[in-house]
Amino acid sequence: VSEKYGAFHQKPVDFTKVNKNLLPTVVIVGRPNVGKSALFNRLIRRREALVYNTPEDHVTRDVREGIAKLGDLRFRVLDSAGLEVTACSGSILDRTAGMTANVLNRSQFAIFLIDARYGLHPLDLEVGKWLRRHAPKINRIVAMNKSESLFDGSDSLMSATAEAYKLGFGDPIAISAETGLGMQDLYGVLRPMLEEYMHQVLIDKGTEDNILSEDADSPEVEESKLPLQLAIVGRPNVGKSTLLNTLLQEERVLVGPEAGLTRDSIRAEFEFQGRTIYLVDTAGWLQRTKQEKGPASLSIVQSRKNLMRAQVIALVLDAEEIAKANRSMTHAEVVIARRAVEEGRGLVVIVNKMDLLRGKENSTLYEKIMEAVPEEIQTVIPQVTGIPVVFISALEGRGRLEVMRQVINTYEKWCLRLSTAHLNRWLRKVISRHSWKNKTAQTKIKYFTQVKSRPPTFVAFVSGKAQISETDLRFLTKSLKEDFDLGGIPIRIMQRAVG
Ligand code: GDP
Ligand code: GDP
Repeated sequence: VSEKYGAFHQKPVDFTKVNKNLLPTVVIVGRPNVGKSALFNRLIRRREALVYNTPEDHVTRDVREGIAKLGDLRFRVLDSAGLEVTACSGSILDRTAGMTANVLNRSQFAIFLIDARYGLHPLDLEVGKWLRRHAPKINRIVAMNKSESLFDGSDSLMSATAEAYKLGFGDPIAISAETGLGMQDLYGVLRPMLEEYMHQVLIDKGTEDNILSEDADSPEVEESKLPLQLAIVGRPNVGKSTLLNTLLQEERVLVGPEAGLTRDSIRAEFEFQGRTIYLVDTAGWLQRTKQEKGPASLSIVQSRKNLMRAQVIALVLDAEEIAKANRSMTHAEVVIARRAVEEGRGLVVIVNKMDLLRGKENSTLYEKIMEAVPEEIQTVIPQVTGIPVVFISALEGRGRLEVMRQVINTYEKWCLRLSTAHLNRWLRKVISRHSWKNKTAQTKIKYFTQVKSRPPTFVAFVSGKAQISETDLRFLTKSLKEDFDLGGIPIRIMQRAVG
């Protein structure tokens, strides 16, 4: 270290002035339910979080990202809640190495959360193993969360600490994400580590000026206002552009679809009832539909990558075509709908051009279609019940509000988080009202927990080797949907063995 930098070392880093792109990245890891999301939320407060999906083996996992604010510290924080399913089940670790590497490679630090009240859980050891294997060099901080009740003067905090030492990741700190207790300790541990990291960045960059940014502390964005990512898909000529135009014309357009941009960089955003809607791949289908019109064209089947970027997929159908062909969906449309559901996206079906069926001689047709379409959709996509179907006329601007209502409703269900306590009360009730195919499974489901949202994913912990049969699993899925009003949402239940 040269003298110049030697002097620099003495100088504390003002994190509030550091360019966001250069801030250190901290990933929060831990088994389900230790409070990762709670800590994430506390750290970012209500600042903007970015959710990105990484497709892997047909399963989408979400990683939330935001800028953490802890005193005068700023860092990039990743909530790995979406990874935990994989992280905690040894057998499929290898398959997801790519995804894991992606998140871990981006992070220089890991906060390893455990539940102070529980002590060490077998899954904590799994997470530890996973971390050692995939990120041997990452700087780790073990934090015992939910420790607010342990400061009671007894030695419970001491024994929790002694337990946590067994992970072999150094000094554990006691925190409570929910009450904010222990945040100054977290600060105390992080500050020197992050500062050392920033000094290294300064050395690499050569000058202090490079890292400073005028707008580093930009205004905060409410989390509830995160953009909803919507894809409008459908065959050529069904009216996607027309629908999009009515949406963009009447709503506050934040960023319009601009000509001349490459497909991936196109952005179209508008605001609906205070919520930002971000249209995915707008230019992609605009381009393709213009080039490849024709009834047999399969070009409407959006690339999987683009579908994966959306949280809700609005599939537009043509009412006139339905009337003519006497079926709701062509093969290509069924393919999109199924793919959306299989990829865990929320699906809203829109039947456009209803105005063409409104003539006197058509009035029965109008009603017939309104009845037949939802039924047929249920038949071709039996795995999801209650997919919303909206009948509109984009040309006349009718039904636009209903489209947006259903899109937002679907999205909200998609983001739903049910507490473990709530779910287990539900589980006890539901277990007794079903005649179980595998009688032993009934008594062996120990507990049930939601491991992630977007879309809601659950794990049933089953004791020993008992497996829940497909039929029983289907029953659980159906009951969850009915009891929590999750119609139209592809939910997943996995099972995992516990001791
Ligand atoms: P994740 O699955 O690791 O993301 O865990 P969550 O953040 O969803 O939290 C799981 C449960 O633990 C929720 O019911 C939280 O309210 C609760 N929780 C989180 N942090 C604390 C804490 O500091 N103290 C207590 N008592 N509960 C907490
Ligand atoms: P896209 O290829 O899916 O983007 O479809 P367009 O939005 O370009 O629409 C194709 C044709 O259908 C155009 O001539 C539109 O005017 C017409 N169209 C779109 N929506 C409606 C509607 O609700 N009713 C009627 N009658 N025609 C419509």
